[in-house]
Amino acid sequence: MEKYILEAEEALLHTYNRFQIVLDKGEGVYLYDLNGKKYLDFVAGIAVFALGYQNQEYNNALKNQIDKLIHTSNYYYNVPAIEAAMKLKKASGLDRVFFTNSGAEAMEGAIKAARKYAYLKDGKKDHEIIAMEHSFHGRTMGALSVTGNVKYREPFEPLIGHIRFATMNDFSSVLKQVNDKTCAIVLETVQGEGGIHPADYGFLKQIRELCDKQDILLILDEIQCGMGRCGTMFAYEQYEIVPDIMTTAKALGCGVPVGAFLMKEAVAQSSLTSGDHGSTYGGNPLVCAGVSKVFDLFESQDVLHNVKEVGAYLSKKLDDLMEKYDIIKFHRGIGLMQGLEFDIPVGEIIQKALSKGLILINAGPNIIRFVPPLIIQKKHVDEMIELFEQCLSN
Ligand SMILES: *Cc1c(COP(=O)(O)O)cnc(C)c1O
Repeated sequence: MEKYILEAEEALLHTYNRFQIVLDKGEGVYLYDLNGKKYLDFVAGIAVFALGYQNQEYNNALKNQIDKLIHTSNYYYNVPAIEAAMKLKKASGLDRVFFTNSGAEAMEGAIKAARKYAYLKDGKKDHEIIAMEHSFHGRTMGALSVTGNVKYREPFEPLIGHIRFATMNDFSSVLKQVNDKTCAIVLETVQGEGGIHPADYGFLKQIRELCDKQDILLILDEIQCGMGRCGTMFAYEQYEIVPDIMTTAKALGCGVPVGAFLMKEAVAQSSLTSGDHGSTYGGNPLVCAGVSKVFDLFESQDVLHNVKEVGAYLSKKLDDLMEKYDIIKFHRGIGLMQGLEFDIPVGEIIQKALSKGLILINAGPNIIRFVPPLIIQKKHVDEMIELFEQCLSN
């Protein structure tokens, strides 16, 4: 592996502090490196591989599509994109879909739609968006502008302007930022990168009411917490609300690069129109064959039921760990999106876990995030806890 790692360090831009392993293949909830060492995967490519590795039905759907048609322009219709869009509409309760290649791009589209909606209302060009501190929405200039982490933003300023930040789960802090220029409020239903912070039920309800009253668009970023991760297809279902615009990506294609933003018909009718937005690859037949199959498999494998059951089991086990170890301060999460907050940096624990064959990832310096494949079983949780405890006790 050393030879490849040296080459990587020579050829790739140093934007990641990579773990010193070269991953070679996956099978179910396990990964293997080039030396054949086996790892239990509690990261799933950061909440992507919901169905696990080597799902034959999924792989065959992609293989069949490769032999038929990989790409065509969005100036023509293709069946996989139509089927994927219909399934996404049904799953989300929203009306219109635009496919992108990534999460950040879905955020770009959502921001453009919100600005255009406000622009068509009053013709002004100074509309504001309210975002949350500690949020993460992606690395492109627009998505970065609404990301509530100064460290990520500062070197790239000026970003897009007219963004205000409020505090997650503090409704009065949101109210303070609202004025007659506000066109949208954007938040993750469950903050991921920022440390696994779910929106409070009451907070999100109040935001929805505020948005309704003042014709402000509610944009929910479900890129990480959506697609079943929290036990419902989208996390906002548990708040009994529907956003005006929603973004999804990560597990949407379970490995093929695809994202999407969706909106209600009323927003679609007075925002982005012919010529306003586009993407060469966005939603091409190959990735959409993947998306379409993902929705079928979620149903046939009853993935949501598994997330609820195994998520509750994992949650209980993590509560137990918090009781047992003083260095663990908080446990938060929903379904299979869980986090443990430590009173020390967690880098060393994650390295130790890796050496023992367990793949984990942080969410901020002090928080370990647990986002395994959604098909994970209780026995895998037990295996994870056993390995994890070996990293905590010595
Ligand atoms: C990962 C993530 C993004 C960015 O998605 P990319 O596909 O990496 O561009 C945006 N929002 C949230 C909540 C995410 O977790």
